[in-house]
Amino acid sequence: MARPGPVYLDHNAGAPMRPAVRDAMVAAIGVTGNPSSVHADGRAQRARIECAREKVAGLCGVPARGVIFTSGATEANVTALTPAWQDQGAPLYLERLLRGATEHPSVAAGGRFPVKDQCVVPVQKDGQLDIAALELALADGGPALVSVMAANNETGVIQPLEEIGARVRRYGGVFHVDAVQAAGRVPIDMEAWQADAISLSAHKMGGPQGAGALVVRSSARVPAPLLTGGGQENWRRAGTENVAAIAGFGAAADAAAKEAQDARRLKDLRDRLEQGVQAICPQAHVFGKDAPRLGNTTCFAVRGILAETALIAFDLERVSVSSGSACSSGKVSVSHVLMAMGEEEALARCALRVSLGWDTSAPDVERFLEVWPAIVDRLNPSARSKAA
Ligand code: PMP
Repeated sequence: MARPGPVYLDHNAGAPMRPAVRDAMVAAIGVTGNPSSVHADGRAQRARIECAREKVAGLCGVPARGVIFTSGATEANVTALTPAWQDQGAPLYLERLLRGATEHPSVAAGGRFPVKDQCVVPVQKDGQLDIAALELALADGGPALVSVMAANNETGVIQPLEEIGARVRRYGGVFHVDAVQAAGRVPIDMEAWQADAISLSAHKMGGPQGAGALVVRSSARVPAPLLTGGGQENWRRAGTENVAAIAGFGAAADAAAKEAQDARRLKDLRDRLEQGVQAICPQAHVFGKDAPRLGNTTCFAVRGILAETALIAFDLERVSVSSGSACSSGKVSVSHVLMAMGEEEALARCALRVSLGWDTSAPDVERFLEVWPAIVDRLNPSARSKAA
């Protein structure tokens, strides 16, 4: 009998490339000309970048001039995380970085803030930021840059950005949002969030790896550039642009913006998956279940089934899932996100993350659920429901 085909359920680590993205990149690859050149070849390259800029801006509901292309969200985050901002041409010096306890490592590392000026704001048990603690921290010192992610890459927990943005504004701070996992999955509304800047990554929405953007709400309120030198990106990010990757990013943003209705479909599939897991293991614990969550993500644990062992068992069946964050070199360490939520370490070590996306279909979920009971039987049979 033919082996079942591979099933990819790790979109939060990186989504498969969309066919429209591949087409846009193939059309742009190997094309002659530097986008900064004034001749026709250069202008054609520039046009590709500007077309992509419109599409990314469209996804974020901001004017195109607010989009600064980068090599990815890591670079966008580090660009935003600087004490040196500018407002209406005047320096705006931010004395402190206040960031959530469950941020991605590229924010948790603090960017260009000295360690002594970094402060971690705790999250509640459900994974949402502790707003009272943020308010206390804001009140207790000079102007701050506040960096909070829109949705968590491990649990999918969505942060109350409007409430956070209102606090930041009240205390005269700058608000940066890592919107990598939210983009294309929930509406991006920088106005309502009162976000000064957001970070995006192309490969989480079916674009190429190595492309992203820092998107600012007002081009008069911007961070000091991270890469200096040439005048590319309106002097906000030096270096010749990766035209093919940017063109692919534009196509991905366009597709993601049109796919809002897909959220319902993915949530139904995710719910089916969670119900299927719990039908076999009634004790399965779903992290962040009490908070608003992305519809494409589930992070769950069954006591006694170590994530790293389960991951290998799924992999042998050609089902790709993840444990905690896959961002750090395939190393399985205990999740700082689950620890920050006050979860028990032994349970956190059993956390599996399954994330769905544009190419996920019902048979993919059924295949996961077909493989799951045998994995439970092998790794911890006592977790199995007697009825199942
Ligand atoms: N922020 C979040 C929330 C992420 O999930 C990731 C990717 N894992 C990043 C930032 C970094 O993005 P990139 O891979 O484009 O550097």
